[in-house]
Amino acid sequence: MSQKSLFTDLLGIQGWGVVAGGIRIEEDGSVTVRIDRRSVGYSCGQCGEGLLFTYDTQPPRRIRDFPIWGRQCYLEVEFVRVDCPRCGVVIEGLDWVERYARQTVRYEKYVAGLCDLLPVSDVAALEGLSKDAVYRMDKKWLQRRDAKREERTVRYLGIDEISLRKGHRYATVFYDLERKEVIGLVKTRKERAVGGFFRCFGRKRCKAVEAVCMDLWQPFLNSVRRHCKNAVVVFDKFHVYKYLSDAIEAVRRHEQSICSDEEGKLIKGTRWLWLRASRNLKRKHKQTLEQIMAINRQLQKAYLLKEDFEAFYACSTREEAEAFLKGWIKRCKQSRLEPFIKLAKRLVRWSHGIFSYFEYRITNGVAEGINNKIKVLKRRSYGFHDEHYFFLKILNATGALPSFEQLSDPQF
Ligand SMILES: [Zn+2]
Repeated sequence: MSQKSLFTDLLGIQGWGVVAGGIRIEEDGSVTVRIDRRSVGYSCGQCGEGLLFTYDTQPPRRIRDFPIWGRQCYLEVEFVRVDCPRCGVVIEGLDWVERYARQTVRYEKYVAGLCDLLPVSDVAALEGLSKDAVYRMDKKWLQRRDAKREERTVRYLGIDEISLRKGHRYATVFYDLERKEVIGLVKTRKERAVGGFFRCFGRKRCKAVEAVCMDLWQPFLNSVRRHCKNAVVVFDKFHVYKYLSDAIEAVRRHEQSICSDEEGKLIKGTRWLWLRASRNLKRKHKQTLEQIMAINRQLQKAYLLKEDFEAFYACSTREEAEAFLKGWIKRCKQSRLEPFIKLAKRLVRWSHGIFSYFEYRITNGVAEGINNKIKVLKRRSYGFHDEHYFFLKILNATGALPSFEQLSDPQF
């Protein structure tokens, strides 16, 4: 094999070859490879029409490509303009480089692929590109993959909120609970925005949803009732536990504020001990709780209510669960603990959604793993002032986007 055809093979761009003696090392250490076309005919860059003749030839341009032996590599190409009967004089269209792009399609995909693994700033440093260029390439390919997402029906839908910035600024996340994937994000947790998701989701797919798992949050509920008329609402078990934790913490804080100094010292800093399941506590922590409960009757009552509630989600049928909750709610009312009375009222009000858990057994447990991924993404912060980009990154991190291979575009 001649050296020329060997280089052409290595180049791997169909219809193009390396010019004899066309490889040089630049002062900055990068490699420039001059290439020319080996095929006949051109196509219009606008409409794709095949054309036999050129209008004129453009001055050579350097197009960034894959690194070669550890050096940055550029292809030097002379593009032509064609005179298309439909579009007039325009730059030719090629499948391996987009018009006006400064890098090959395969290199863009390579950079975008690196962005799945590394922060934008690291990719930029690694490849000697500007952060902005990396971010633009990454976003472009994420958008393309997003556009190719299949419209699959979802049987069990999860709706949850995530905080985008500490304390406030919430976004609403939609999950396919069976596939454990994020399928959508909207910027707020308001009813209108949530409704916007369902409108995009489409009537047909809304109708196919059998159950929706979510927090006891009225705007979510209103939206689901309006759009997914066939869906049964299941209140997320983890949120119910959270309300329970809030109740016991309210009792603890109140008791700490009214008790003697000595008792206060004992109660102070025990917050998480009350929240943990007792089977997960160390012996000395159990002793601390017992010591407090021996002198504080209110906390003792609260703790027993909380511990006994564990049996609720262990019930095997809806009937069993209904009977259990009835008794537990009665005890809440008798306890005279204000936070527990409030909690009991809440549970009664939302009981339809709480009991439907026993028919569908779905939770938003998947949200926790996804929230961790989001936290990692937030630390890799370049470009995340762009919310759309941030959302695409989240979709990508949770496997919701089709892979590069699934994009049905030309050879690269
Ligand atoms: Zn044309």
